[in-house]
Amino acid sequence: MLNPEDLGNLARALDMTSDEELACDECFEKLDRFVEMELDGLDAASAMPLVQDHLDKCGDCREEYQALLDALRVEKGWTPVSLIWVRMRRFFQGDRGQG
Ligand SMILES: [Zn+2]
Repeated sequence: MLNPEDLGNLARALDMTSDEELACDECFEKLDRFVEMELDGLDAASAMPLVQDHLDKCGDCREEYQALLDALRVEKGWTPVSLIWVRMRRFFQGDRGQG
């Protein structure tokens, strides 16, 4: 008879044996393309579901993905909107000063 812990292990084992899973190096190899698709406004997650899947599970690759995304954005001349807002707020607050 299986107890809940066994069932949990079984579920995890089944999850891990899915043969369509990327290793970290495979994910790294595809990451460039994945990020470029995102920046081109394409649905990278649908086109490369295995990469998306790996990013969901693997913190290391997610960090790499973020770094790559930021790097390519800068390369393409994008400025994050949030950064503009922070600068504007600082500008207006500084302008009013303290009296
Ligand atoms: Zn990974």
